[in-house]
Order: sequence, then structure tokens, then C-alpha cells
Amino acid sequence: MTILRQIAQLGQPVLRRETGLVDDPADPVLQALIDDMLATMTEVGGVGIAAPQVYEPLRLFIVASRPNPRYPHAPTMEPTAMLNPEILWQSDEAEKGWEGCLSVPGIRGLVPRSLCVGVRYLSRTGEVREEELSGFIARVVQHEYDHISGMVFLDRVTTNHDLISEREYLRLVSA
Ligand code: ZN
Repeated sequence: MTILRQIAQLGQPVLRRETGLVDDPADPVLQALIDDMLATMTEVGGVGIAAPQVYEPLRLFIVASRPNPRYPHAPTMEPTAMLNPEILWQSDEAEKGWEGCLSVPGIRGLVPRSLCVGVRYLSRTGEVREEELSGFIARVVQHEYDHISGMVFLDRVTTNHDLISEREYLRLVSA
């Protein structure tokens, strides 16, 4: 049975602690966690969610790009669980883009991220995958990877002037 999980908000130590490797992708408890994360992310309209955000300090996140107001051309992808992900390389070329976070309600920030990244991870069925990602998906991967490293997007903004309220953000993207 899928359970909607409570989302850890900024201030919860779980968002700042180290995470452990997933050791058995086939573990039914882990598979249930992935299903719960998918359901929780869908319920709140997220494009990604990391295990620490549901109080599980594991190297696991889900990436689920789809078009959104700021990235109208973002690809729609099947939500993908990445277990024990590694960022193999990232482009020097970076770009600032707006991000929000389920764990940081009410705030949006302009965050510099590499345009392209190479990632290796285990799929939820235990296969090793290596992918080259760019644009919005690369951004989401870097955001989620930060979560399993005890970081949030606020740590990445280059100036506090790049932080705005959700309400102002919505006004900006609808302008
Ligand atoms: Zn986040």
C-alpha cells in the first residue's frame, strides 16, 4: 500500500546529514519507499524528490521532468528513480535558473547549475545506467544530488538577492 510521506522541511537535521548507500535494490522495503516517494512527489506536483526529504537518509532520488512555467520546453519523462547516483562529470558552462524545493516552502531562488552532467546510477530494477543529461533534467539531477549530500538550493545561490517569495515568483513567470 502506498503511503503519502511527510516532507521534511528546512531545519530538519535529516536534510543536512550524510546519506548511506542503498545496498539491495530488490528489498521490498526499498521498493515501497520508492513507490511512496513517487506518490508523495506527484501529490504535491514536484519534478523531483530525494529520500532525505521523506526522512530516509539514503542515496536515492527520483527525477520527473515535465514542462513548467519557467521551462515550458522541459521534456516530459517517465519518473526515474536513481539509486546510488554518481555525477561523473559536469560541464563548466553553467546557467542560473529558478528553483524551488518541497523542503523550502514559499521561496524560489536563482541557482547556477552546470548545463550538462554525466550520471551513473542503479535503476530500481538494479541495472547500472549511465546517461548524459542536459537542460532542465540536468538541473533537477543536480538539485536532487545536493539533497543526498546534505545541501539545499539555498546553499548554491550566489547572492541573497537571487531569493524571492513564491508569490513574487508566480507573478514573474506569469508576466
Ligand atoms: Zn529540493
